[in-house]
Amino acid sequence: VGARLTRAVDASPAEWSPVPGTSGVELHSLINKPSLLTSNAFLLRTPLELIVIDPGASDEQKDKINQILMAELNDQARPVLIMLTHCHHDHSCHVGNIAPNAPIVMRLAHAVAVDAFRRQDLALTIASLYATTKICDAHFDVALFSSDARSGSLFVDVSRGTRLAADPAAPVAGAERQTLRLSTGDELEFYHTPGHSPDHLCMRLGRLLFVGDLPFASNPGLAGLAGWDATGLAQSVADMSRLIGKSDIEICHTGHGRSVPPAAMLQILARVQQECSSLGDIAEMSKPRVAMLKAHALELLDVAGDLFAVIAGRMLSTAHRLELLEEVEYAERFRAAIDADAVEDALDDLRRFCRDLRADALPELSTVLKCVQVMQRLEQALTAAGEVAGASLTGRSARLVGDFFNAVRGLRITNTVDTVDANELANNAVRTLRARPSLDVAAHLTAGGEDEFRQSLARRLAFVDVLRNAEVELVPLEGRATAMADSQRISDVLIDALELIAASGARHISIRTRRNEHQLEIELRSPDFSPRSAIDERRRRVYQRVLAIGGSSLRDIDDQAIVLQLGPIEPLPIQSATRID
Ligand SMILES: [Zn+2]
Ligand SMILES: [Zn+2]
Repeated sequence: VGARLTRAVDASPAEWSPVPGTSGVELHSLINKPSLLTSNAFLLRTPLELIVIDPGASDEQKDKINQILMAELNDQARPVLIMLTHCHHDHSCHVGNIAPNAPIVMRLAHAVAVDAFRRQDLALTIASLYATTKICDAHFDVALFSSDARSGSLFVDVSRGTRLAADPAAPVAGAERQTLRLSTGDELEFYHTPGHSPDHLCMRLGRLLFVGDLPFASNPGLAGLAGWDATGLAQSVADMSRLIGKSDIEICHTGHGRSVPPAAMLQILARVQQECSSLGDIAEMSKPRVAMLKAHALELLDVAGDLFAVIAGRMLSTAHRLELLEEVEYAERFRAAIDADAVEDALDDLRRFCRDLRADALPELSTVLKCVQVMQRLEQALTAAGEVAGASLTGRSARLVGDFFNAVRGLRITNTVDTVDANELANNAVRTLRARPSLDVAAHLTAGGEDEFRQSLARRLAFVDVLRNAEVELVPLEGRATAMADSQRISDVLIDALELIAASGARHISIRTRRNEHQLEIELRSPDFSPRSAIDERRRRVYQRVLAIGGSSLRDIDDQAIVLQLGPIEPLPIQSATRID
């Protein structure tokens, strides 16, 4: 697994390039495909020192770094400085295994990181999310931004010409700053930028800015890690945006994935900033929560994948029919919009990832992050599909994806519980499935209405009457049939189940609404087809989760029927005391 995922280590190595804005510092980047297995690593060299920023956590990368350092040290012995943007396991795991034969090795990190390693803190280093309990236990020589350093008394003479000095008087761009003077006279600046983690640092050298994990700090699955803090993050992002905006930074090197030019980084940071304000009190990404999300994600992707296959199928057959109607150009636009191949690739990628997944190698959080990635692609495809594939189908899929993102973020899903009428829900479900979109002929006749007409034509062509072979009978509850529930999510499940049962060949389906003690129920029954075999285990669990959002549940499923239990029957209006005259 490790080999497959880290193979992307930059294939054009051995390239040292000058750091712009310095007198002779050179950079060698080791860039990986984004993953929790390891961070990127950056090596800096001058004639008198070697620097490693974030050694990472993959053996392959560690070996590569040591190989490069060995060649350099053979050439000329120099001290090696190892420093961290933050203490997370994916950045710090190999700190103690770098440059074992160097004459002098010095390690630097924020004081909070140094303390976390000393205490072997599994939470703050996020090592608890990995199958390992191995935390970096290397000795750190310098604790940046410690109380000593803040008062300006810290002074470390690393070697001839390399000096670390506290610089409390000169915060730049708002963030606390310390500088390390290199032998070349260039200053490596450390900015304290908490939020992603309390010890997070950005580093600037010449016209390079190392931003660590700051750009990913609001991502679903990463927001809420131990030590995560929305207020600190918003401040750090504002500070670094100001720094980038005001200075001559040429490129931003990130903790994961490709390096980013300053203009694009400003956009990314603006998004992080915006997301911070809506993420005030999200749930912590604890180990049990990650395990729960992983199970949730895999179930959901299965169902979302199925729904997407149906949508893509309808879109492609619609494109084909449009061609037959000589709407070739529109058909082409249509195909391009859905990009079914890209989504299929993403799903394939995920399946491979899950198949290769071994408990000892991969942190569960990476499965969640991978699912987030695939879901984001599904979401894009859904947006492209628009309502052409049927508003009900795309709406349902979009809600599944949206609920998943909320679950990952730990946000409570907007409470949509209201008074619902079970008879009406059942009725509408059937109506929705049978509603053949009408053709907007009037648009065809008005000037400029061509596109609207084509759209209505496409909607009409994409329509599939899934109930065409089934006789559906409604058996409504007499009298009051209202309960407190989330009507949208109940009808999503109802429509999905109806579709599946009908598509499995049921000829007769009855929908019954009834009262069971204080609850309302909707039952789908088919004498000639088993709902249990039409609706598999994973989908049932997804139904459970979807229904649970609004306080409803999947009460029962067997070979004849599936029963949804709605919330409690809406309380009858309180009778005013009967007055006897
Ligand atoms: Zn990271
Ligand atoms: Zn991190």
